[in-house]
Amino acid sequence: MDVMIHTKVWKIDQIKSDWHVQLAQPAALLSAGKQIAFPTETVYGLGADARSEEAVRGIFSAKGRPSDNPLIVHIYDRSQVHELTNCTNELAERLMDQFWPGPLTLILPVRQGVLSNQVTAGLQTVGLRMPDHPIALELMRQAAVPIAAPSANTSGRPSPTLASHVLDDLQGKIEGIVDGGATGVGLESTVVEVSGQHIQILRPGGVTVEQLQACCPEASVTLETELETKEAPRSPGMKYTHYAPQGKLVIVKGESAAVSQYIVQQVTMHAAENKCGVLCFKENAHHYEQADLVLSLGSVNQLEQAASRLYEALRKFDEYGVTRIWSEASTTEGIGAAFMNRLLKAAGHNVINL
Ligand code: AMP
Ligand code: MG
Repeated sequence: MDVMIHTKVWKIDQIKSDWHVQLAQPAALLSAGKQIAFPTETVYGLGADARSEEAVRGIFSAKGRPSDNPLIVHIYDRSQVHELTNCTNELAERLMDQFWPGPLTLILPVRQGVLSNQVTAGLQTVGLRMPDHPIALELMRQAAVPIAAPSANTSGRPSPTLASHVLDDLQGKIEGIVDGGATGVGLESTVVEVSGQHIQILRPGGVTVEQLQACCPEASVTLETELETKEAPRSPGMKYTHYAPQGKLVIVKGESAAVSQYIVQQVTMHAAENKCGVLCFKENAHHYEQADLVLSLGSVNQLEQAASRLYEALRKFDEYGVTRIWSEASTTEGIGAAFMNRLLKAAGHNVINL
């Protein structure tokens, strides 16, 4: 039986001095085991008490998330690391010192019996992070419980970077949404597993390979992408397709002029039977005026901005009923690694190499 809940929205304006007070009701609902969406510096999260089986079950059912895909637990105070895990790795501690609060999730050995079994999906580890967002931190401080929080979207759809995206997917399925405006990074956290002197990136994100290496020069840093993984993925989320728009998305790679020329040809060829969309950088947007919807992610030299706009763009193509989409590609340096990782997943690894 599907139960419809009235989803409350709390609009938080951090300019007002009493914004903390407005979080009392959503915080109390979180403590009482309800599911509440809230902004973080990466994307909106759908939170619930990570210790409660019932609260966590509510997250999986609202999102339609496969139960073997574990959830990241969000904390507001460093002392919680030792309450929830048996972390003894010096490098892991250094990464927390350097990047928390921030978009870095560490996979750590979980303490037995303190978290819901569904949070860890039966693994011996838990992913932990401290988000760098004043509303998220204050909400969790008031709720005073560890918060399991995946992205607040329907499983498989692009993650939400605005409260309206959360409403589009989860209205009627969750207790409420704390609306704190647009998120910052716009892509999910970097997920790492540290063992000895080795940092394995299981998912690229807001903290880049270059930043990790600079923080730990003596460590080896490797990026395990789903294409390179022949064995069972170490991070269960890696095996799922994600972020996909409804239209068929193809990434076109190659020299810039050739890419534009190819996309224009394709649009011309498919215009009769399709609503055609192009996802591109500002420098090339003028080439694509024949397309039905052209979305520019900003300059090719400002990939942070492109990252923050990607999910909103993917959702826009759906809103306009676009059936075929061609996208330009970026470099994989810095935040480009996370940007291309999400774009490839959204395209189901459908790439034309010119
Ligand atoms: P999401 O919550 O949608 O941002 O996704 C969280 C990502 O972290 C997924 O790819 C999960 O598979 C991964 N993850 C969470 N917990 C663990 C864990 N204990 N071990 C490995 N990967 C994890
Ligand atoms: Mg997600």
